[in-house]
Amino acid sequence: MDGKDNFTDFTSDSAGLKLIHNVFLRLLNVDSLNYQAESKKILEEIGIFFDLDRIFIYYFSTDPTFMEIESQWSKERLRPKRETQEKEIVYALPWLMRSINNNDFIAINSKEGLPDEAVFEAEVFETEGIKASLTIPLKDQNKLIGFIGYESLSKSIIWDKKQVEILREVSILLSSIRTRIIKEKAYQSIINGQALLLNNSQSQIWALSNANSYESVNEAHAAFFGKRKEELEYQDLYDIFDIDTANKLSQVNWELFEKNEPAERELEIKNFQGENRLLRVKSKPQKEITGNIRYLICTAEDITEQRKAETELHKAKEQAEAANIAKSQFLANMSHEIRTPINGIFGFLELLQLTPLSLKQEEFIREAKSASEILLYLISDILDFSKIEAKRLRMEEIRFNLRMIIEDAASLLAPKAAEKGLEIYTIIKSGVPEEVIGDPSRLRQVLNNLISNAIKFTKEGEISVTVDCLGEKKGIACLSFEVRDTGIGIREEHIHTIFQSFSQADASTTREYGGTGLGLAISNELVKIMGGKISVHSIYGEGSTFKFNVKLKLTKEISEHHLMFKKLEGINILIVANNENNRKSMSACLEGIDLKVFEAKDGASAITTIFSTTNTKDKISIAIIDYQLPDMSAYELAETIKTITSAKDIKLILLTSVTQKGDAHMTKEYGFSSYLAKPVRKHDLFGCISLVLGLTKQDEEQKVVTTHSVKEVKNPLKPRILLVEDNEMNRKILISILKTRDMTCDVAVNGSEALKAVSEKDYDVVFMDCQMPVMDGYECTSKIRGLEGNKKHTTIIAITANAMEGDYAKCIEAGMDDYISKPIHSDILFNMIAANTKERADQNTYNGIINDNIDNLVKDTGLNKEDAREILEDYIKCLPDLLLGVRDAIYNKDFHKLAALTHELKGSSGNLRISSLYELAIEFETAAKKEEIDECIRLFTQIKVLCK
Ligand code: ADP
Repeated sequence: MDGKDNFTDFTSDSAGLKLIHNVFLRLLNVDSLNYQAESKKILEEIGIFFDLDRIFIYYFSTDPTFMEIESQWSKERLRPKRETQEKEIVYALPWLMRSINNNDFIAINSKEGLPDEAVFEAEVFETEGIKASLTIPLKDQNKLIGFIGYESLSKSIIWDKKQVEILREVSILLSSIRTRIIKEKAYQSIINGQALLLNNSQSQIWALSNANSYESVNEAHAAFFGKRKEELEYQDLYDIFDIDTANKLSQVNWELFEKNEPAERELEIKNFQGENRLLRVKSKPQKEITGNIRYLICTAEDITEQRKAETELHKAKEQAEAANIAKSQFLANMSHEIRTPINGIFGFLELLQLTPLSLKQEEFIREAKSASEILLYLISDILDFSKIEAKRLRMEEIRFNLRMIIEDAASLLAPKAAEKGLEIYTIIKSGVPEEVIGDPSRLRQVLNNLISNAIKFTKEGEISVTVDCLGEKKGIACLSFEVRDTGIGIREEHIHTIFQSFSQADASTTREYGGTGLGLAISNELVKIMGGKISVHSIYGEGSTFKFNVKLKLTKEISEHHLMFKKLEGINILIVANNENNRKSMSACLEGIDLKVFEAKDGASAITTIFSTTNTKDKISIAIIDYQLPDMSAYELAETIKTITSAKDIKLILLTSVTQKGDAHMTKEYGFSSYLAKPVRKHDLFGCISLVLGLTKQDEEQKVVTTHSVKEVKNPLKPRILLVEDNEMNRKILISILKTRDMTCDVAVNGSEALKAVSEKDYDVVFMDCQMPVMDGYECTSKIRGLEGNKKHTTIIAITANAMEGDYAKCIEAGMDDYISKPIHSDILFNMIAANTKERADQNTYNGIINDNIDNLVKDTGLNKEDAREILEDYIKCLPDLLLGVRDAIYNKDFHKLAALTHELKGSSGNLRISSLYELAIEFETAAKKEEIDECIRLFTQIKVLCK
């Protein structure tokens, strides 16, 4: 019989219902722990109820080819279905397996009831002595998961419908409870796994249902407060903690809830031992569909130790930095302290040199001077080197004229080169920007080092400095510098060591040439900081070429020569020089301008060029002639040119080297209009060209002009110099150096004296010491700039021995124009004075006032112009005395007198319709009455500017 047969209805049997009811009640209490025991009891109850011998439940494994008995029962003294629990192959009973797949039950009343095909099943019946069996498949959501077998070993059974139905009911109950238990187990294992993680986590984790109520916490969070998990969960903070702790937690929870998004806070709170701990709390809201926060999940890390370590580290760093600052300050002070006496030695030696001396004495002084100079370089090098070592070398960011830096470096060393008979020239290619932003003093330092090495290691020949622009990108120019010499060269095996500190190519170098071996190491580092690289190519015995490139920011440059360039259109220039590089150097300066440059290497080719161009548009306008040509001297060539009628009006410029500058007075006699010293600076070249072409006016006596001519002409301009210096020795030296050129200066011993002096007198140049008592140089300069406004600009040059970084920028920032470092070289000093001394007309300095106001006076008064001029001139004559009186009144703070004088000034200037003066005088009188000294000084300065 199988499950498709029909049975008689037995549902009214109350015993059967009771059995189902009992099974159901038992199963209600079943959980994963008592499942095995309870199911056995159920099987026993069923077995006894239906007088069966064995009941067993097979479940298929996850691999469906195997199955295993999970629970079984057998009547007392009968062997169970299986003695041991092990996996069996499903298809050992193929007919049965097929049948349970397709039927709700398979009922076998006796062995004979088995169909023929159930060969293996019949064998089982035989061997196990089975008389009857009922097999009920077990399913979970329609999927076959196993079966229950009910067996009788003692008798055949005619399975009736009622019996089968009851057994099917209980079987379904058993399998559904098993499915539930398995699912619960799986769920439990997930929960256990999570709990394992949560409760063993070092981080504290908790969930809040609102700012004051816990939902769930992990062990770490509970343990922090010395509590158990259960004591916190679902509790109100104020019920669990002391008020202080509850307040703190509530406050931070509240802030995190308010954020309504993942957030982070630090929370300082006491743990269960009363220790203050710092927690970093991170929170993440878990939101409902409505957007409201359901739970706020928080995690916290104890960062107390980490913070302590950070604070310690910070402190240690600060201490180290302070020590470093102290060290560099010490270095700065030391260098300052050492520089001051060397400055003294150097200065007095310079002065001593100017006194009558025997040859021997002169030589001794030269040696002593050179020794003190070397000592000074040494100090600077050691200072730089220690700054690099301490990684404290910083670059300035200053706008500067690149060409000037390059030309300065070459000119400064030109005398040294000339002493050895070496030519030095600069070739600045046309793409090189005029103005850049960077550290000019560091760039000059690298150039100085390379050029002075080139001079030092070259006996004869020439030194060239070539600068090119390799490209521009995003406002930054990459510039290449090349210093080439024809000197001793460097052996290949020494090349890689020369950039190391204290390293020289070979020991004999030290003996013969001196030096410390620090210069290239410093240059190497400086170039690296400037974003470039330095390298050398050298052939031993033939010469060396040092190359480096740096990156410098570009500025929007304004070309001061631009207007003048236009005037040079159509001008033809002939450069006559034997040395090709000399010609190149000048041609490079003239590149990019609308004029034609011709080159000739000697006198003969110069004359040929002049002849061949005479009647063409290329007719030579200016010839720049080198002092010494291979076939004739420059004077001979000049004389020859002057004999050529068609070439008479060619303007001649003599190109001299610094050592020949004494011959300057000869130039005019030979027909030269001007002379230029090598290495030629672009600025001088243009100045010279525009002068000889009559584009710039010059004093009659100064027809021959160069930067050096000022010295030659023995200071025709009397410069007005103010020296601001507190140190007596330094003052003495500077005054004595000035005396050698018949110059004098006013002296102020501190900033406030200087301020007063500048407000009273118009100086060409102020040399300002930086560190002084009362008011230092920086403060004084900014006050002077404040007074001047944009009406006036007195040149202020800082004198300082303080060679620390930032000094240059500090001076410029304070409003100074340049920087001269101690010990002062007289050449540099006089160059600066020459460059800043204004020409003063001897005639009436107040002409401007007359011209500006005469028309007003004529218009308002009806006077004729002649009379008006006379009246104004008379007035102007009285003005200096009046202003002198004003100055004295300010000086003596005599406000009464000042008010009277300014009143007079107001009246007279008003009467004469000099409105600019009149307006200032009104303000001045008010300030004097109010006794406002600063305002009075300011107005007095403005009036002086006006009356200039
Ligand atoms: P210093 O010149 O003070 O010894 P540097 O670092 O400037 O130190 O130079 C290191 C060495 O490199 C020099 O001693 C010299 O041997 C070699 N050197 C540098 N420049 C040149 C050069 N232009 N020609 C030949 N040798 C050079």
